[in-house]
Amino acid sequence: MEWETVIGLEIHTQLATQSKIFSGAATAYGAEPNTQACAVDLGLPGVLPVLNADAVHMAVKFGLAIEAQIAPYSIFARKNYFYPDLPKGYQISQMELPIVGLGHLDIEVDGVTKRIGITRAHLEEDAGKSLHEDFHGLSGIDLNRAGTPLLEIVSQPDMRSAKEAVAYMRKLHELVRYLGICDGNMQEGSFRCDANVSVRPKGQAEFGTRAEIKNINSFKFVEKAINFEVERQIDLIESGGKVVQETRLYDANKDETRSMRSKEEANDYRYFPDPDLLPVFIDEAYKAQVKATMPELPEAKKQRFKAQYGLDEENTAILTSSRPLADYYEALVKASGCEAKLCANWVTGDLLGALNKAGLDITESPVDYQRLGGLLVRIADDTISGKIGKQVFEYLWQGSATADDIIAEKGLKQVTDTGAIEAIIDQIIAANPEQVEQYRSGKDKVFGFFVGQVMKEMQGKASPGEVNKMLKDKLK
Ligand code: ADP
Ligand code: MG
Repeated sequence: MEWETVIGLEIHTQLATQSKIFSGAATAYGAEPNTQACAVDLGLPGVLPVLNADAVHMAVKFGLAIEAQIAPYSIFARKNYFYPDLPKGYQISQMELPIVGLGHLDIEVDGVTKRIGITRAHLEEDAGKSLHEDFHGLSGIDLNRAGTPLLEIVSQPDMRSAKEAVAYMRKLHELVRYLGICDGNMQEGSFRCDANVSVRPKGQAEFGTRAEIKNINSFKFVEKAINFEVERQIDLIESGGKVVQETRLYDANKDETRSMRSKEEANDYRYFPDPDLLPVFIDEAYKAQVKATMPELPEAKKQRFKAQYGLDEENTAILTSSRPLADYYEALVKASGCEAKLCANWVTGDLLGALNKAGLDITESPVDYQRLGGLLVRIADDTISGKIGKQVFEYLWQGSATADDIIAEKGLKQVTDTGAIEAIIDQIIAANPEQVEQYRSGKDKVFGFFVGQVMKEMQGKASPGEVNKMLKDKLK
């Protein structure tokens, strides 16, 4: 039988606010355990949560970016459960009336664009962390994360393959970083995914029973976890079994999913409206205010890059993959005045290559756009060849000198004195009569040998075009 996969993703994005969603404690990652949790985060008696306006601003910004309905009126609810890293005994979340309603995101897989529905996005607080290492049979509790603002983004069950799910997740990751509402750091848990997966016979209208794979924190693992889960469900059904609705955990070491708890054991959270928090009212004026802070979105930037710079699909995709990278590129084009394509090739080629190798982000690049621009200007005006340019780039990378300094200091300037080139060509022709004979009797390949010899003799500092032209003349 042919099977169809159905996937819906719930993605938790940590909002990039300075302080927590209902308290003034800091949200910075990596502090000493329990130094960033205050009485409100712990839910001590008598405290009152106060909603962080920045978190609301960020949620609305996201809602507008996915063309969603923004709820004019939304409320917070208590989701009750016991866990050691949740000392309050409940998590403040939104159940009914979330702040962001139905919206969508377009993804592209194998050249085909597909629209994925987003059911809702709601604000909630994160819980603390239980630490199991270093405690010899006990657990440590770190409450620094308690009260950190999250936006949980819930998709419709619209994806039909692990590939589509990853494309959606990447697109969302790109969007929240563009909007500046989430740092997107997956190792630190700022962007994590629960994948709901089911299978059904192809052509069947009803969905199959789904399993939910919790807390996957990399694109690669999402793809692997879904593919494993799909195989597991198909094997199970084909051998006469039934998929049960349950929560599963992906084990990256074994590349498999394992049952955590089934629906029968699932908690009844007894949601109820939080009596300590006021409803949130969003009017048109507020939305307009948020809209005014909206940056150019990834899709719009892609279209503009293609039109304005004449870039191909691949370079456009790379250069617009993050806002800082796109900004770097545009600043480079503007400052250097060089051809857009030359700039694109250097950024996506040499610069990104070196950054990747060094494990650095564009914002940490040792070569800023001004110095790279200085190099490109010298390639464009033929002071140096592209090949020598790569050498200069190495020096740019290692130090703080400008391209002009490096070219002067290392004597890399291209020789434009045709007399000097001619003398070397004559010398090489005289020294290699055999090859000259071969070339003249029709062995065109030998030409490359002459170019190589001349360039070697000139240490790469002659214009290859000029050398070709003169050699052709002399070898006639
Ligand atoms: P819950 O609140 O119990 O997690 P929801 O109805 O909110 O359930 O769905 C959670 C996620 O599961 C959504 O992303 C949704 O698209 C997805 N989903 C629902 N039904 C299925 C299904 N049969 N197969 C795959 N995904 C599903
Ligand atoms: Mg869920």
